[in-house]
Amino acid sequence: MKAYAGQLLYINLTTGGIQKVPYPEKWARRYLGGTGLCARLLWDSVKPETKPLSEENLLIFATGPLNGVGFPPSGRYVVAAKSPLTGIWAESHAGGFFGPELKYAGYDAVIITGRAEKPSWIYIHDDSVAILDASSLWGLDTVQTSECILAETGRAARVACIGPAGETLVKYACIIGDRYRAAGRAGMGAVMGWKNLKAIGVRGTGALEVADFDGLRELAEDAQQRYTTGRWGRACQESLGEFGTTGLIEAEQKIGRLPTKNHWSGVYADAKMIGSEAIRKGYRKKRRSCMGCNIQCKYVSMVNEGKFAGSLSEGPEYETVMAFGSNCLNHDLSSIIHANMLCNLYGMDTISTGKCISFAMECRENGLIDEDIRWGDSSKIVQLIHQIAKREGIGDILAEGAREAARQVGGNAADYAIHVKGMELSGQDGRPHKSAGLTHAISVRGADHLRSLSSLDELGYVDVVKERYPDCAQEVLSLRTEKGKGRLVCDMEDLYAVVDSLLICKYGTMWPPIYYFDDFTKIIPALTGFSEFAEVSCVRELARRICLLRRAFNAREGITRKDDQLPKRDLKEPMPEGPAKGQVVHLDTMLDEFYGFRGCHSNGVPKSEELRKAGLEDVAAELEKLGMGPDD
Ligand code: SF4
Repeated sequence: MKAYAGQLLYINLTTGGIQKVPYPEKWARRYLGGTGLCARLLWDSVKPETKPLSEENLLIFATGPLNGVGFPPSGRYVVAAKSPLTGIWAESHAGGFFGPELKYAGYDAVIITGRAEKPSWIYIHDDSVAILDASSLWGLDTVQTSECILAETGRAARVACIGPAGETLVKYACIIGDRYRAAGRAGMGAVMGWKNLKAIGVRGTGALEVADFDGLRELAEDAQQRYTTGRWGRACQESLGEFGTTGLIEAEQKIGRLPTKNHWSGVYADAKMIGSEAIRKGYRKKRRSCMGCNIQCKYVSMVNEGKFAGSLSEGPEYETVMAFGSNCLNHDLSSIIHANMLCNLYGMDTISTGKCISFAMECRENGLIDEDIRWGDSSKIVQLIHQIAKREGIGDILAEGAREAARQVGGNAADYAIHVKGMELSGQDGRPHKSAGLTHAISVRGADHLRSLSSLDELGYVDVVKERYPDCAQEVLSLRTEKGKGRLVCDMEDLYAVVDSLLICKYGTMWPPIYYFDDFTKIIPALTGFSEFAEVSCVRELARRICLLRRAFNAREGITRKDDQLPKRDLKEPMPEGPAKGQVVHLDTMLDEFYGFRGCHSNGVPKSEELRKAGLEDVAAELEKLGMGPDD
């Protein structure tokens, strides 16, 4: 198959079994790769009785057809498993160089089952695959681990590994690739840690062929133009290139959507002190990039003075600044950069870590815990990060995630656990931005912006909205109206399903809105030679199939409308200040509209006829056998 390595690598850590299986062309045509491939694999093998921390749970590292073929920006990969944080579908994406390297080694995906008897690491060097002893690596942080493996492999490998937080099974432990790139959310690092797998090193020397070399080269040149010139190119360079994602601090403050004080408010009085200019002037050192990217949104920051002097890491991203900054009422930027570095070294998701700390701050304010954890106490934030990673003291409770921590704290602590389906909210708020609320509520991996968030209404792209949704443009554009948001969010979920299966970076689709379905009718056939994708209906059908399959996976786990919810704060507590003062989210209206477009019953379960139309007959039959259907 063109654009694919052509093989899936299965590794059973219990038995040591290693199997290379051809990637079925039928699957490539139906699911493409990346998240689509993961959806098929998890549906087939991970059942409701499969525990997230068990030998049976799969841990999948998957690439897509666009990885490693010189098309920018496509240096990404996805890790998928059943999540120990939420107990349901999980996928977590990262950039860097690891994904393409895996394809050069000859594999589109690595599928890991079982549990090694002792700490292990996997070295994949083209055809050679070995499970090696990692006893000497256990306990090391992610940079130390990467360095040891690079030393072992002559510095030729790309490394994805866990830190101590993955070993102690922090429920939101992440996997760090290429030293700083996190597959951050939903606890993929804990799955890896439970399997006693410290790292994967991969070295590939093979080449990839595409179906239409000249055609793809033209499309890649066009992509470079789009990312560097014109309206969108300038936006990429002047915003993402200059500031990374931290420009969002000012953008979100402006519309009253910057999570502040554990999502109590959407405006932060000290936003300027943690904003993009403050980071650039005081801490930014170098621009960095994933493989072959013209945007280059990554950067290195360093603290030169004060008690956190010497802190050095990539980032922080907007989400991290928000999580340890405004959301904890902490305006000490040097502490945020230090917190970011610690999370990377321990291998912990910065969003969930920050949100669990702000949860503890609000619990203390309301007399639910005795520990002295006060708003804005940057030293305490840093201390808690160490405690969570090592599971010491209250850190042991917070390491379970906000939902479970609230259960253990008791009283009305659940009111302060800001999560959906067990995953802590990312840096948006549905009260000022209604479609963001719907996005968090319906996301298959819990509160999440990366599966369907729209920047079109957020930033008011009138021309793009009119072109894409001519019959309901005004409704879509209104930030504060629930109407039209079901359609918008469904369309975005479809678009990102294609993006996450090809494995192109979201910058260019999520923001700025450079790529849309039509563009993929050229890219996919030039890559793969699958001529059916020249029709936009085929690209859309692929997207719908993947979205329905992921939703069916969750439905089989018992996830329905009762779980497609938002924290009480969003639904019942009017925004207290700022441009969205007085706003709450009326979720039911949006859910009804979304389920209509998504092809679900009013309880959120995919309809049999929609699954069959999408070619998922076996999935429809299984849900029917389980008696899952309309409840009205
Ligand atoms: S835009 Fe940023 S995250 Fe995306 S590929 Fe480029 S450097 Fe990586």
